[in-house]
Amino acid sequence: MWDGYNRTIDYLRISVTDRCNFRCAYCMPPEGLITLNHDDILRYEELIRIIEVASSLGVKKIRLTGGEPLVRKGIVDFVRKVAAIENIEDLSMTTNGSLLSNVAHGLKEAGLNRVNISLDTADPDRFASITRRSELEATLQGIQSALDAGLTPLKINVALTGFFIPSDLDYFIDLVYQYPIHVRFIEYMPLGNCDVSPGPSIVNVKSTINDAGRGFLQPASTQERGNGPARYYQLPNAKGMFGFITPISEHFCGECNRIRLTADGKLKPCLLSNEEIDIKAHLRSGISDKRLAELFCQAIQAKPSSHSLCRVSGHPEFQRHMSQIGG
Ligand code: SAM
Ligand code: SF4
Repeated sequence: MWDGYNRTIDYLRISVTDRCNFRCAYCMPPEGLITLNHDDILRYEELIRIIEVASSLGVKKIRLTGGEPLVRKGIVDFVRKVAAIENIEDLSMTTNGSLLSNVAHGLKEAGLNRVNISLDTADPDRFASITRRSELEATLQGIQSALDAGLTPLKINVALTGFFIPSDLDYFIDLVYQYPIHVRFIEYMPLGNCDVSPGPSIVNVKSTINDAGRGFLQPASTQERGNGPARYYQLPNAKGMFGFITPISEHFCGECNRIRLTADGKLKPCLLSNEEIDIKAHLRSGISDKRLAELFCQAIQAKPSSHSLCRVSGHPEFQRHMSQIGG
């Protein structure tokens, strides 16, 4: 599938739930958000049908996200069904990791290829202030289980918000030395009404890593870089690497290859736009696969050339918080 700007769209990110066991300060308010009714969330059979149609149009990569995807019951069986769909070459999940340790092996066996785990700090108190939950140990166990189960390459997502302090980097530097993990720093995107300030710039993070006395960052080879939005760098003799994702300061919209589906059945051509195409209502009124494919193509043609979000805090005009889209 090609969009109106000659970009190939082969990646579908699916939010399987808007619910979450965390309340990260940059993602939702402390009291949480009003959650969808069960009837408003796409059923697994509906999701399978959508993925089958998407794969017939050229989607090869699926990422399951949320909310927290592991709070949804039956997720392992769902993964098994998605993995069996023809043409799906890469099936991954973004998770906060806290519920992963019991299901990591099951997910791998069901056909999940890899996970991205979100972790902003390894300091228990600061972890609790950011996530508003005291689940650091469970998240760290989730990371270990993902490695043990072979859900690799394992990526850790670090959101760069005002909570971030330079000493957080000590843990992440040790991590990339010891394990073949990709630690990726992601610029804060001011969606919804979260009262969070942007964190240090990517330039500052890179120079703090370079000043840590463990050598200097060098761009990773093309092969290691992969084809996502992260720009990867390595430290000498480290097993893992660092990635930097800059949706705001240096957007990568020209390379965008993705489309999103929210838990309540809206196709979102762009993460940072309010435009949505409702496919749930059509699915539930007996739409044909041909018409479903047409709606998909319509969403892809609606992709903007780029977003216009800038580095300031608080964009209440965005109708959804990150947990309601699937970051
Ligand atoms: N609950 C899962 C998790 O936390 O990994 C999946 C959903 S979460 C919305 C997906 C990713 O979005 C996480 O890595 C999180 O750090 C990131 N995220 C949430 N709000 C964000 C924001 N305002 N700016 C940048 N990244 C954000
Ligand atoms: Fe939940 Fe993920 Fe949002 Fe944190 S970032 S509140 S874990 S959905």
